[in-house]
Amino acid sequence: MLNQEFTVKQKIVLFMSFLFLATSVGIQIKNYYDNQPTYTINYESVNIKNMTEPHVATKVSNQKQTSDLLTSIQTTLNQVEEALKGSPIEIEDFPATEVSYKREEPTQIWYLPTENGSVTTFPNVGHVAYDITSWRGTAETVYPIADGTISGIYYDPYGALVVTVLHEVDGIKYTSQYVHLSSYANGLYVGKQVTAFDPIGQMGSSGQSTGVHLHIAVLDCALFDSKDPNCYDLNAWYRYDKKRLSEDFYGLGVLVYVPYSWNSR
Ligand SMILES: [Zn+2]
Repeated sequence: MLNQEFTVKQKIVLFMSFLFLATSVGIQIKNYYDNQPTYTINYESVNIKNMTEPHVATKVSNQKQTSDLLTSIQTTLNQVEEALKGSPIEIEDFPATEVSYKREEPTQIWYLPTENGSVTTFPNVGHVAYDITSWRGTAETVYPIADGTISGIYYDPYGALVVTVLHEVDGIKYTSQYVHLSSYANGLYVGKQVTAFDPIGQMGSSGQSTGVHLHIAVLDCALFDSKDPNCYDLNAWYRYDKKRLSEDFYGLGVLVYVPYSWNSR
């Protein structure tokens, strides 16, 4: 018959199992963070006149994340000890760093596209965009990164709701693209003039997406403009994007500089 009491031997075996499990999970998390490109963002926004020379993105050491991780593992071990004493395990969320952000009056500057959120994916070859998540989920309003004109409201081939905004600065045309929206803002139409403070939709998970987030890219062309040979339609833009990638140029996505995470404005 089963003995209700744990013997000392059983407790040790249980503890060792938890220890092994916690360590393996810890190592996996550490590897994940070690392999993530992390950036020091010195700009919450950037004057687009300087866009031709992206200021960004210096890879920094993972020291802080590693020490956070070790703290997290220690916390887990403490929780295992607690569990062995009979209390239930409560796993805390991985600590997130928050940076304060204030949205300012626009003057030829890109702004952050949401009020709250964290960047989970930075631009890289194959993903020329930022992915931004928010604890507010679909309650998160999406704004244009600058004043402009709505140039596209459409579903992409995977069913994602997308809005694009055309911007023109010093005669150069740019398109910002907001993907995976859950809904469009009321009264949105192609040709509508918008400011950086006009909502264009809500964050969502439509299309090829595994969770609520905003995928935002910036293209140096005028999407859906019949006179733009690189971007007169989506196929032209895909070809153009592919060409830029083959030239090892994936800077378009880093035209928008955002901090790793931020609070409400
Ligand atoms: Zn994405």
